[in-house]
Amino acid sequence: MKRCTYCGKEYPDDATECSIDRQPLADFPPRPASTENQTGEEDKTVVIRIFANHETAGLAASNLESHGLECWVAADDCGGMYPNLTAASGVRLRVRVADAEAAAALLDAPLSPAETEKVETDAVAAVPPEIIPAWKFAWGQMLLGVAVGIIIGCLFFRPPTRPGSQTVYTYTPDGKRNEVGLSG
Ligand SMILES: [Zn+2]
Repeated sequence: MKRCTYCGKEYPDDATECSIDRQPLADFPPRPASTENQTGEEDKTVVIRIFANHETAGLAASNLESHGLECWVAADDCGGMYPNLTAASGVRLRVRVADAEAAAALLDAPLSPAETEKVETDAVAAVPPEIIPAWKFAWGQMLLGVAVGIIIGCLFFRPPTRPGSQTVYTYTPDGKRNEVGLSG
């Protein structure tokens, strides 16, 4: 079994180049029988690519995931805290053994600009958004709210005047205040 290194189309062993895009063919192990997938094989993973850094590995991973292939990115650099350590072993992209063939074909196939854009959009969307509560419960804000409420209440609240009762102050020319209760 041979496979186009460009588009991934499969050819018999006697073919030499892809009939679609004239790219050289590479030997490829035949697709494993489906019975192997029911004997625990689907839980085994295989490293299909080693990347120089997390960025390219993550991009490839989101490419695979956008095609429904589960994959894992693993590196010996403590989750990116010590990026210089990736130089020794690289960032490994693992997929299930059953998915290895499809994943390799996907990674070999060049992405169209639209696909690249989609993958990058998915990668951004995959980052869990920071959860910002619409209203943060805080005692300080509650007390402030109560205080403002009291002040506003005082400004607008007028004690009901008793009907028929009114106090009128008048001032005599010599400055004395007369208090006259009117009723009526
Ligand atoms: Zn091809």
